[in-house]
Amino acid sequence: MHDPNCVFCKIIAGAIPCAKVFESENVLAFLDIEPIEKGHVLVIPKRHWPCIMDVPVAAAEDIECAEEVMYLVRVVAKALCRDFATGVNVLQANGPCAGQTVPHLHFHVVPRIGCDPVQPVWRSGHGQYASDAERAGYATRIAAAVATIIKEEDLIG
Ligand code: AMP
Ligand code: ZN
Repeated sequence: MHDPNCVFCKIIAGAIPCAKVFESENVLAFLDIEPIEKGHVLVIPKRHWPCIMDVPVAAAEDIECAEEVMYLVRVVAKALCRDFATGVNVLQANGPCAGQTVPHLHFHVVPRIGCDPVQPVWRSGHGQYASDAERAGYATRIAAAVATIIKEEDLIG
């Protein structure tokens, strides 16, 4: 549940300080130490799940924790917009190839004010399909894997 070498687990344990925004039994929100913009918040579960793929869904308490994380992302986004932001980016990386540097699941909630120079990290259109058939092939493969996992986990559908 906790990794003694994980910086976010150390923050949860109080061994490393943070600028706390909210804490409950399941979740913690605090300011990013290298903010993209002032007010950049990280929302994390208090369980050491490295990536979103690692979130377990067998036990009710894990589902509850994961739901609370998503709820808090929403509340932080609302709070930033109620205060000073005119929008937010919610960013989330899984794995080093995706830019994840801290292997403890976290959501970046980044306040935007409309005329700031920050650009989204994604580049739309970079992965254009060579043909309609190739696009259909991706949809079919991904849909099959999604259906298999949903069947395995038996949560929805
Ligand atoms: P990612 O690259 O998505 O894994 O994001 C990790 C984030 O954690 C980065 O934005 C870091 O600035 C942030 N971070 C790392 N250590 C700390 C810390 N001690 N307190 C607050 N934020 C941190
Ligand atoms: Zn951790």
